[in-house]
Amino acid sequence: MPISLTPLPYGTDALAPAISAETLEVHHGKHHKAYVDKTNAAIAGTPRDQAPLEQIIGEARGGDHKLFNNAAQSWNHAFYWASLSPDGGTPGGALLERIERDFGSLDALTGQLARQGADHFASGWVWLADEAGTLKVVETHDADTLADQSPRPLLVIDLWEHAYYLDHKNVRPDYLKAVLGEVLNWDFAARNLSRGDRWTYAGACSAA
Ligand code: MN
Repeated sequence: MPISLTPLPYGTDALAPAISAETLEVHHGKHHKAYVDKTNAAIAGTPRDQAPLEQIIGEARGGDHKLFNNAAQSWNHAFYWASLSPDGGTPGGALLERIERDFGSLDALTGQLARQGADHFASGWVWLADEAGTLKVVETHDADTLADQSPRPLLVIDLWEHAYYLDHKNVRPDYLKAVLGEVLNWDFAARNLSRGDRWTYAGACSAA
C-alpha cells in the first residue's frame, strides 16, 4: 500500500502570524506532497510497497539516496506538522522536570534550539530528542532524520528556507523566534517522552 500524505492536524490559517496560511498551503500541499508522491513512485511494484515508512527509510539509508531523501522528507514533515500547534501548551510534569535537569531551564532549551537552528548551515532540521534518558538538541542535515535511529525524537523544527521564506524572508532567526514563542506543540513532546515506543507515520495517518 502506498504511503499517504498525512493531513495537517489544524487549518492552514491556524498558525498565523508565525506561519501563514500561504506557507502551509505550499509547504504541505506542494512540498510534502511531492516527497510522498516521489516515495510512492519509487516503491511501486516492489516489496517495499507494503513496508512501513520507517523501514523504507532504514533500508534506503546509505544506499538508495533518492528514495532515502524522499522517504525521510515525507516522515520529517509529518512529524513537523505534529510538532506545531496553535494551542501546544507549555511544558509541565515529567517533561519540564527533564528539561530543567538536562538544560537548566526552559529558557535555556528554547535558547539552544534558536541558536542551533539559526547557526545550522543550509537546509536541515533541529530536534529535541531523548538519548537513553537524557534530553538533547540534535541537528540533521538536508533530509536526514531520526525516524529510524537514535536518539528518539520528541519534536522537530524545519530549517529549510521553504518553511519560512514567504513569512520571514531570509531571516531564519525571526521564524525560529515565532515558532518557539507561539506555535510549538509541547504536549506532543510530552506524549512522545512518556510513550514506551516510537511515534510512527502510519499512526499519524490512522489517527487523522
Ligand atoms: Mn519543509
